[in-house]
This record gives sequence, structure tokens and C-alpha cells, in this order.
Amino acid sequence: MPQPNTLQKDSTSLTIGILGGGQLGMMLAQSALQLGYQCVFLEDADNPPAGLYGRVYKSHELDDFIHASDIFSLEFENTPLDTADTLDKHKGGIFPKANALAVAQDRLAEKSLFNELGIDTVPFLAVNSLDELRHACDTLGLPLVLKTSRGGYDGKGQFVIRHTDDITTAWDELGKATTGQGGLTKIPAPLIAEGFINFEREVSIIAVRSQSGEIRYYPLVENHHDNGILAKTLAPAPSSDHLNAQAQSNVSKLMTHLNYVGMMTLELFVTATGLIANEIAPRVHNSGHWSIEGAVCSQFENHVRAVLGLPLGDTRIVRPSVMLNVIGRYPDSKALLAVSGVHYHHYHKAERSGRKIAHITVMPSDSDSLTDMVACVENLLNNC
Ligand code: AMP
Repeated sequence: MPQPNTLQKDSTSLTIGILGGGQLGMMLAQSALQLGYQCVFLEDADNPPAGLYGRVYKSHELDDFIHASDIFSLEFENTPLDTADTLDKHKGGIFPKANALAVAQDRLAEKSLFNELGIDTVPFLAVNSLDELRHACDTLGLPLVLKTSRGGYDGKGQFVIRHTDDITTAWDELGKATTGQGGLTKIPAPLIAEGFINFEREVSIIAVRSQSGEIRYYPLVENHHDNGILAKTLAPAPSSDHLNAQAQSNVSKLMTHLNYVGMMTLELFVTATGLIANEIAPRVHNSGHWSIEGAVCSQFENHVRAVLGLPLGDTRIVRPSVMLNVIGRYPDSKALLAVSGVHYHHYHKAERSGRKIAHITVMPSDSDSLTDMVACVENLLNNC
């Protein structure tokens, strides 16, 4: 008799070795298990969420991780490129590959590739010194956004320069990154100065590309941030039908150019003249969590399907939904689950200020009540 908590592996079952073991890995494993596959993880943090669904190896156990896996993927893009290259030489290889990580890890390479492929971005310049920063301010005009080109996340590693008086402060804060001492990454890299854009709203498109090059797109979604952290995603983005074609064309150019396999996210600004691309995530993404209930096939299942060479699933929307991140403190789950249409995804993480510890997708059967139900859940989150 199998032990209740022992995963059984038959001849058709494969194990995906995933770089990273956070909640994205956890939700990938939930989908993989549902389809009959297993996951193991490479993660140095203690008690990561994904560990509830598969064995976690530390980085010094890389050989054991490789041995336990049949094919590789990732839930975290800031992984060393040589680790991805090493994994690509073993078993079924890694999807997506290091070429996509190299682009996503470096804002200058990323925006340069966007422009090379005819994808609109804000104007930008590389900045290696205070003099170059002054030159960028003269050329691009103020305000401008100065960012580290590597290692930034959730708005960290950024400074909005509004007046010439801010230039030296911005350089004092971020200039250290050019010598690898900024704290966000040890790899020395130029800063990027970006023209400041007065966008109407922020949207993202998530899409999946198969081993054979088929691409399927989810509808554009609208994202709202709080202190630089994603707080809410509206799926689909209201009044966005006219923007889908441009977003799909952009993500398709990127995926095809990179010969990409798996889920990719492209974050965009909506302006009066169309979409401006900001950045990609070469993985499943927080702005796609709604798809677990809100799409016929979720981003997690589609990523597993793509990596394993299985037919892609239907990306169409089931009903409009809204995803709310739970940040810092858990809500009263009894009160939360009493709200109609609530789907609660708990990440089994300790509470900590600014940390994503769960998400809630609100998708009532009566879509007319969506706005009211979302207000109700936001109220509960604000009170916790
Ligand atoms: P990012 O890390 O590039 O996603 O930037 C974090 C947030 O800063 C974005 O979600 C935008 O709200 C804002 N932001 C980034 N770049 C610009 C820009 N060039 N102009 C205006 N706002 C920006």
C-alpha cells in the first residue's frame, strides 16, 4: 500500500525541477500534480511554500536536484545564467532558456531588444557616472526615472528625478550599483535613465508559447499597485479590446525572437497614443493569478503543458474576475469566505510587512455583483 503522503511515479510521469520555491512554484506544482506530474525545487530559503508539494534542494545539492528531475523550469528570473545553462545540458533541458533570462535581468538589454523588434518604449539612456546622469537629464528632460538596470523589484532601485537639485541625491542613492555595491545585485551594471511617462493605466499581457511555436494569449489585464507592490488585477482590463492586438503582437515578437517556451508576461503602460512596453517576466506572474479560476486553463497549467510539450490549454476567460493580493497580514478567513465568489489562495508564509502571503480571486457567478464583492473584500483586507 502506498503511504498517503508518498507521491507515486509511474512510467509516464515526469518530474519538473524548478528553480525557486516560492508561491509561484507552489501553484505550478498544484497544476503539475493535477495533470499527473511532479515537481522538485531548488531553493535556499527555509520552509518555502513550494515545499508542501515537492522536495526542496538547497543550492549545494544541485547534483541531487538534477538527478531527481527529468526537465527544468523556473519561477524566479534572477537566477545565475550559468545555472540555467548547466541545467540545459541535462535531461530534457530548461524552459525558458538563459537567453530570455539574460534579457529580463537587464533593463538596458530588455528595452534595447524591444526597440530592435519595433516595440515602443520610453526614451532611455545608460548612465555610468554623475556626468552621464546630468547629460541624460538634459537630453531626456525632467522628470525622469533613474533605475538600476539589474536587481530591482517592486519599485526598489528607482528614483524619480523631478528637479535638477535631485540629481546628486539620486546618484548618491543608486550610483553604487554601477560598481556592484548597491545591495540589489553584486553584478556591476550601468543605471538606466528613462523618460517619465504620464500613463493612463498599467496593463499586462500573459501568453504561452509551446515547443512547436504555437502562441496563445490571455486577455489584457489592468494592474493597480500600492507602494510599488501589485495590489489588484482586473481581468479583463476594462475597455481594452482595442489594445489587445498591439499587446499580442508585442509579446509574440519577443517570444518568437527568443524561441521561447512557457509563460511570458509583458507589462505595459497605456497612453493616449497606444501601448508602451515596460518589462517582461520570463515566467508565470502575479498578474495572471486570476486565471486559476477566471480562465479555462490557468497560466500555471499552461506553463506546465508548454514545458512538457503537451497541447496548450484554452486561454479564454470564464467570467470577469478581480485578483487582490494579501500583503503583510492575513485577513479573517471566516469573514472572507462568507463573501460570494471568493477563491482564497493561502501561501503558508509567515506574516511580514510588505510580503505577499496570499491572494484572493473574486469571481461571483453573477458578474453584476463583482464590484460590490471586491469592495467587500478590500474592506476586510483594510481591517486586518
Ligand atoms: P518597474 O520596476 O519598471 O515595473 O517600475 C515600477 C513602477 O514605477 C511601474 O509599475 C510604474 O508605476 C512606475 N514607472 C516605471 N517606469 C516609469 C516611467 N518611465 N515613467 C513613469 N512611471 C514609471
